[in-house]
Amino acid sequence: MTNSSESEYPVNNPDDSKAMVLLVDDQAMIGEAVRRALAEDPSIDFHFCSDPAQAVELALQIRPTVILQDLVMPDCDGLELVRRYREHPATRDIPIIVLSTKEEAQVKSAAFAVGANDYLVKLPDAIELVARVRYHSRSFLALQQRDEAYRALRESQQKLLETNLVLQRLMNSDGLTGLSNRRHFDEYLEMEWRRALREQSQLSLLLIDVDHFKDYNDTFGHVAGDEALRQVAGALRESCSRSSDLPARYGGEEFAIILPGTSPGGARLLAEKLRLTVQAMGIAHEVPAPGASLTISLGVATLTPQPGQSCLDLIEQADRALYNAKHGGRNQVGVAQAAG
Ligand code: GH3
Ligand code: MG
Ligand code: MG
Repeated sequence: MTNSSESEYPVNNPDDSKAMVLLVDDQAMIGEAVRRALAEDPSIDFHFCSDPAQAVELALQIRPTVILQDLVMPDCDGLELVRRYREHPATRDIPIIVLSTKEEAQVKSAAFAVGANDYLVKLPDAIELVARVRYHSRSFLALQQRDEAYRALRESQQKLLETNLVLQRLMNSDGLTGLSNRRHFDEYLEMEWRRALREQSQLSLLLIDVDHFKDYNDTFGHVAGDEALRQVAGALRESCSRSSDLPARYGGEEFAIILPGTSPGGARLLAEKLRLTVQAMGIAHEVPAPGASLTISLGVATLTPQPGQSCLDLIEQADRALYNAKHGGRNQVGVAQAAG
């Protein structure tokens, strides 16, 4: 059994095989007789309640495995009490044996109708009483154990699910910047490429490279370099407005953004916006001249995938556009010619 304190209605009885009987009857004499009958079995604990007004409260406290319920009491209808046990979530499933003064079909059927499990005529023979108490108690405890096992199983399945989600996120993200890593970028691009091929939609790709970054490291050190990469990554993340846009760290000081369903114009606009944003962040740099700010160069490509093409074609086009931006003087956006 798992820790009982975790369940909503804990089983107080630590010994699983132990029966706990609650007798609710206004007559002390019946209480004494039943006590004596049950005393023959040491595995049965017994509580007597002579005040029906206290019955439900007492049941909540002692958590019986069987309730013996008298039907006729002054100022209280035993059937009404049975109904109340059945209404309360903590006593709903406790087996109830009603004790009646006589064998009467009508009373019997009324008792079963409100939720009694068994019916005995007072005073039952000790052997029969012990046997029924044991039987009902055992099936109640088995039911509780089964429910608890299910609950524990559901809980551990839920935990496993959550752990898997965390693992998946870790597996897909880049440790330095928190963006998607290269592995996830490759998977996502492949998936979106296939979708765009199916739907004949435009797929855009931005390749982004930090300008003069080797010099940045040489001037300010790798720790400052890492921080600058994190800042650029933040700008990329912020710039992605659609949930389908995927910013990623492509490798080293190179980044990429996959833009499904995006036209060449839209991709170019985003690229320009990003370039200006990074420049405006004003990360001080000494190259190309003292007082300069860190900048990025971007290559933009868009394709509507055709059979026989692969997503590598898109990467190649964006890479060529980036190369042009670098050779055009950096801090600019290169656009692939074959944009479709
Ligand atoms: P260009 O303008 O042509 O892009 O020049 P560059 O110096 O940026 O390009 P290059 O490819 O020569 O240098 C890239 C540098 O990026 C070198 C490498 O040390 C640095 N770099 C790559 N990954 C990291 C990283 O995770 N942290 C830091 N601090 N630096 C990195
Ligand atoms: Mg580079
Ligand atoms: Mg660079």
